[in-house]
Amino acid sequence: MPVLTRLIPSPVVVDIRPGALDDLATVLADQRVSQSGRLAVAISSGSGARLRERVAPSLPGADWFEVGGGTIDDAVRLADAMKSGRYDAVVGLGGGKIIDCAKFAAARVGLPMVAVATNLSHDGICSPVSILDNDAGRGSYGVPTPIALVVDLAVIREAPIRFVRSGIGDAVSNISAVADWELAHRVNGERVDGLAAAMARQAGEAVLRHPGGCGDDGFLTVLSEGLVLSGIAMSIAGHTRPSSGACHEISHALDLLYPRRAASHGEQVGIGAAFATHLRGDEEGSRLMADVLRRHGLPVLAGEIGFDDDEFARAVEFAPQTRPGRYTILEHLDLPPGRIRAAYAEYTASVGG
Ligand SMILES: [Zn+2]
Repeated sequence: MPVLTRLIPSPVVVDIRPGALDDLATVLADQRVSQSGRLAVAISSGSGARLRERVAPSLPGADWFEVGGGTIDDAVRLADAMKSGRYDAVVGLGGGKIIDCAKFAAARVGLPMVAVATNLSHDGICSPVSILDNDAGRGSYGVPTPIALVVDLAVIREAPIRFVRSGIGDAVSNISAVADWELAHRVNGERVDGLAAAMARQAGEAVLRHPGGCGDDGFLTVLSEGLVLSGIAMSIAGHTRPSSGACHEISHALDLLYPRRAASHGEQVGIGAAFATHLRGDEEGSRLMADVLRRHGLPVLAGEIGFDDDEFARAVEFAPQTRPGRYTILEHLDLPPGRIRAAYAEYTASVGG
């Protein structure tokens, strides 16, 4: 009897708890990620200094690299700067920009990457994608999944709460993204990877249904784990489908149409997910999502992030162009502008505007 199986690219270390940062060197040594302690650590040039002061004593063999920003040039500069050293791994210690730069640079010099996330603002902390600004705007680059993921909940608590809120929106949006994926399967026969869909949906459902709040370690653990599972789901699928549907198309459209006014990624995809769920005819699901987002202090209406109804409707109309070839409820309904405005008015009434 054949025993069929498959290997899933996934981190060998996932360490999520208060105080995890203090044990970073030991964990990396024990798990053979870095036995010599020779690490290239990327930090931000601003808030990174404080982290460095705190972590440097426990990483005596590390070299430190300040990263200017989140552009592809910053990532290439980082790769160039560290290619002359002999390192076991590259550590990205910081927020999304630092982790994305470190992922890209590590891939470029062929080293494994350790993600030490200092905030939970989105599901990129353990994903095989690096998002960097380039001359054409913003690009997504495929990279290996981090070999280790460390989240120190004590550090997460020090970051502004809006980062945690953003992560909640991104995790919950998985539920809508997977529903869009299944719609594409029903209508177009698009192949759904059941394992990737299961991991992404469970991550979203766990965050959606957890009774705790942004201040509890229990909730923050589930949120961190949800973001990790979302990233691995993308690795399994080989694309961002498990975590990105109409919710993300709407958010990308807001970013592109109103570049200087955009809210956080999680706020935008949260609204996008609740609205897309309404468009798919799942009234109850949409209302539950909106209630949970509100409970955590997230917006559910465009007006709450500074866009009037017409501006939001324009973004919904433009959204399919942000991900050509991706089939979601927006492409399925293909609503003319007037019908989008009417649907959004219905949504507003339904979630209690
Ligand atoms: Zn996202």
